[in-house]
Amino acid sequence: MTHLTSSTADDRRPVPQPDEITRFYWDGAAAGRLLMQKCLSCGKLQFPPDVCCLSCQSEHFGHAEVSGRGSIYSYAVVERPLHAGFVDALPYVIALVELDEQSGLRLVANLLDATPGTRLSCGQPVEVVYEKREGITLPQFRLVEVSR
Ligand SMILES: [Zn+2]
Repeated sequence: MTHLTSSTADDRRPVPQPDEITRFYWDGAAAGRLLMQKCLSCGKLQFPPDVCCLSCQSEHFGHAEVSGRGSIYSYAVVERPLHAGFVDALPYVIALVELDEQSGLRLVANLLDATPGTRLSCGQPVEVVYEKREGITLPQFRLVEVSR
């Protein structure tokens, strides 16, 4: 498990606000665990957390820890900020990561080690890292160099 601290006193980037549906996810991240909602009726993993299962509409969930390994499903290089807090981070990469545990189980995160000039392509393996920022821990991703 890798923890990074990227926050400074004048960090103006907004951070997520956990609520009763998402708190388990953020608490898991703070403990270095990537947790997904798991439907107790059909067994599907789900992200982002929601009030009911998008597969079977059940409202009964547990949580399951996943490996944090996956691959780039899609990505974008952000060169113009959509929020003033991200100006100093430009350019940065947002990746849609498909986790290894389930086809279609995807989450959006930053790809932290993709500096300008880094060759990126869909399907590249990535792994989770945890970035501490402003009192919350964000699951982010980095490229995995070795082939799996
Ligand atoms: Zn279900």
